[in-house]
Amino acid sequence: MTFEDLKAQVAAGEIDTVLVCMVDMQGRLMGKRFHAGHFVASAWQETHCCNYLLATDLEMLTPEGFESTSWEKGYGDYVMKPDLTTLRPVPWLDGTAMVLCDVLDHHTHEPVPHSPRAMLKAQVARLEALGFDAMMATELEFFLFEKSLDEIRKGGFRDLTPISGYNEDYHIFQTTKEEHVMRPIRNHLWNAGIPIENTKGEAEAGQEELNIKYAAALDTADYHTISKHAIKEIAWQNGHAASFLAKWNEGRVGSSSHVHQSLWKDGKPVFLDENDPLGMSALMKSYVAGLLKYAPDYTYFLAPYINSYKRFMKGTFAPTRVIWSVDNRTAGFRLCGEGSKAIRIECRIGGSDLNPYLAMAAMLAAGIAGIEEGLELQPPAKGDVYQGETGLIPGTLGDARAALRGSALMRAAFGDKVVEHYCRAAEVEIEEFARVVTDWEIARGFERA
Ligand code: ADP
Repeated sequence: MTFEDLKAQVAAGEIDTVLVCMVDMQGRLMGKRFHAGHFVASAWQETHCCNYLLATDLEMLTPEGFESTSWEKGYGDYVMKPDLTTLRPVPWLDGTAMVLCDVLDHHTHEPVPHSPRAMLKAQVARLEALGFDAMMATELEFFLFEKSLDEIRKGGFRDLTPISGYNEDYHIFQTTKEEHVMRPIRNHLWNAGIPIENTKGEAEAGQEELNIKYAAALDTADYHTISKHAIKEIAWQNGHAASFLAKWNEGRVGSSSHVHQSLWKDGKPVFLDENDPLGMSALMKSYVAGLLKYAPDYTYFLAPYINSYKRFMKGTFAPTRVIWSVDNRTAGFRLCGEGSKAIRIECRIGGSDLNPYLAMAAMLAAGIAGIEEGLELQPPAKGDVYQGETGLIPGTLGDARAALRGSALMRAAFGDKVVEHYCRAAEVEIEEFARVVTDWEIARGFERA
């Protein structure tokens, strides 16, 4: 949808509301609902938000320790600058359109360096300076539950019942029973300009996957964010809950967000070399070697919460090791589409709770380092890659935070202040978890301690 299209639809009375949104650290849409008349008259140029939006947690608290903002600094404003190339209808809401914003400094109008969209744009620009375009796809896995979000919250998040009674991996009959939610998700997103490929049942009761066609990295992150938002809203409209928690039950498989990555130049896939046994170009090998070498450094951006690390369990298709393999779903990195135009590397470490801008920015930084350092790729792992001793993915949020904090690469790519900002975000989660008393402790010790 162009700005001219929007103006015409506003004049015709077809659109009355414009959602003006930024993406926060958690990958959520935050912003304001504008009257469309005011948006097309003036607000399309810029609007403002409190700068705590990029220094908060899932609860919208104002934790101390962020250099960018604080009570002392008075929690000032950021500029939200609509990126009019992201304008689109929101077909699942009446008379509504949406635009995503870049977050700018209130005084200098420069991008805020720790804003997720700015971080991805900066790495895409580095890659473009090397002559390459990043084409990416993120898979969205999530669970649908019988009850609505509001019922579940009022019930204290207990007795969670998935929408289906059995593992529905690729299951057509079971997913037919969920079409009242999944069909509008596919169709509304398609009509919002998002190139939906398919949805499918996943390998657990109530678990779903949405696949979107690969695109330029920034578009892919935008598509992911809008789709995740739409899934929650459309499930809510139908009286169900959709959850992107990485692991909602220790007895069930977790949800992931695999990231498919390939580099292109002038519309041609430069990861492909038809003369190589696996069809991998030297450039691809160096990129993948960079992803492997620096995986611990950026694991935080693939697994940002305490809960994220509960997903990394042997025998669940979730990876535990920094290993690459050919079409093997138990490795952290899997070669897909070998020898064809679709050749790509799939990172399987990330959880459904990742922020796609941060995940892709961090992996591009690692891949670029692999290219710049001319890293050599070791042969692919074979067999059950859960076995072995080496190359473990950080096992806790604390370990991932320490790896990020000590990462010269992440500091060089994003800047010290940005790395410290996200290390503080991780620390906030760790501090909060240390402070609260969990259900598990009570059940374990109430009677028996
Ligand atoms: P899986 O079997 O892991 O679920 P899918 O086949 O469902 O994988 O997902 C494949 C994803 O990879 C799709 O989103 C598709 O658009 C994307 N893809 C295909 N070719 C490329 C490519 N060259 N670069 C990046 N992503 C790609």
